Amino acid sequence: MSVIELRTTAEIEQMRPAGRFVASVLEATSKAAAVGVNLLELDALAHEMIREAGAESCYIDYHPSFGASPFGKVICTSVNDAVLHGLPHDYRLRDGDLLSLDFAAAVDGWVADSAISVVVGTPRDEDLRLIDTTRRALDAGIAAATPGNRIGDISRAIAEVAKAEGYSINTDFGGHGVGRTMHGDPHVPNNGRPGRGLPLKPGLVVAIEPWFLQTTDRIFTDPDGWTLRSIDGSRGAHSEHTIAITEGDPIVLTQRG
Ligand code: MG
Repeated sequence: MSVIELRTTAEIEQMRPAGRFVASVLEATSKAAAVGVNLLELDALAHEMIREAGAESCYIDYHPSFGASPFGKVICTSVNDAVLHGLPHDYRLRDGDLLSLDFAAAVDGWVADSAISVVVGTPRDEDLRLIDTTRRALDAGIAAATPGNRIGDISRAIAEVAKAEGYSINTDFGGHGVGRTMHGDPHVPNNGRPGRGLPLKPGLVVAIEPWFLQTTDRIFTDPDGWTLRSIDGSRGAHSEHTIAITEGDPIVLTQRG
């Protein structure tokens, strides 16, 4: 059964510390991601920040039906042809790597979820274009997250940006409701039909998360049981924010400084 929870203005205010914390961890880890840095060091940095803040990891014990075992780490680090759910492992970043960081944590019992892609060292033009497209798609999705619209309007806004750049879209993994837990209803696919789906109302809090691959929309699961990689080896990028729909403009809870 689908349960759509709407938050009061006071509850959305209570969610702000989680959003700020998640933003600060992505700022720190993306800044620390340099040539020669090990993915396990980025996980350790995020873990230390969780401890210092008294926050709670949403990932470490996460064990959904599609996961081989509990995730065991606190941040997703997806490199190059990995795009989602990248399990941190003993790997030192190399010049030109495209790194996607996805992080969710709870503060005061409220969750926030956000993701960012960056290039380590010298960027390739095609990687910058891919990252920029996920960012613009996220902005377009957020702009469509207003009362009077429906989930399908967010989906379509995201898809239009991707299609204009020639990327195809996988709708197996997308955005989701966020609240006391990391994943709730509604599902927010990265492609859909405008005017369809759940009507958007003030108080709805969702993560919107466009992710695209350079030359395919198909993925497979790495033998580690978690990391999702492109089927053709092409690179992926991912941008995500947790937002609250209001009577006016949406509030981007995970906005970075
Ligand atoms: Mg996320």
